[in-house]
Amino acid sequence: MEHGLCKMCHKEKDLQKSHLIPKSVHEYCSEGGYKPIGMFGEIVMAGARQLKHPLLCFECEQILSAGGEEWMADKLATYDKQFPFYDLVIQGHLADTTAGSKIYFVRDVAAIKIKDLVHFALGIFFRASVHSWRGDSTEPRIDLGPYGEAIRTWLRGESAFPEHCYLVVHVATPERAHVGLFPPYLAEKKSWCVYYTYVSGVLFMLNVGKSTGFGPKNLCIWNNPDRPILVSGVLLDKFEAMVKEKLQSSKHTQSFLAEMEEVAKKKQTMS
Ligand SMILES: [Zn+2]
Repeated sequence: MEHGLCKMCHKEKDLQKSHLIPKSVHEYCSEGGYKPIGMFGEIVMAGARQLKHPLLCFECEQILSAGGEEWMADKLATYDKQFPFYDLVIQGHLADTTAGSKIYFVRDVAAIKIKDLVHFALGIFFRASVHSWRGDSTEPRIDLGPYGEAIRTWLRGESAFPEHCYLVVHVATPERAHVGLFPPYLAEKKSWCVYYTYVSGVLFMLNVGKSTGFGPKNLCIWNNPDRPILVSGVLLDKFEAMVKEKLQSSKHTQSFLAEMEEVAKKKQTMS
């Protein structure tokens, strides 16, 4: 086991092989022998190996696991169109229907553990903010700036929920939910930053910055006491289109590399 500085408690510890997307989620999505589509854009071909790295100590892994991963892991969309989390969301109060989106207030759905849900999502964003998760770069995958530290201490239960951070939760309908994983990335940079991550049917949108607009602020599951969750909608469409594009371009990369290999081999035999 590797020894080093744990990125979450900042202490010298033995480090666990941490996963970017929690291991329990991988296992749940792979039930029945299926393999979740790893929608990792440019690193599709690199395989799952790089999504594991000695990063956190055992205690911090436990904090993330008990904080939200255990609760969330068995509620995601599966290949047989089961989607327990969606079933819970639609038990909420249908507050609004606009432009293909429905907004449910889940305040009174006791089975939805808001803190666990938020802890789960921020745990993934946090992991992406302290490591590259790809072989060709040492830069963290996303840069949360000062908010990274505020999220770290909140995850550890050492501080209040970070200021100027707004998490919007979008859920696909079971028919449309892809069993797949998409690691956090910076989707938009305006006067504030917008990051997305997708985990089997649930799209998390994290907005950070003082000038975050009224929309994300109002739809933030943590800040709005009605606990809004969006079902389907425009954003999910946009996200799917982006994923398709990424997958296409990664296929191109793969065939390009295969061709290059052939060229190199031929050169070797010639010399
Ligand atoms: Zn630690």
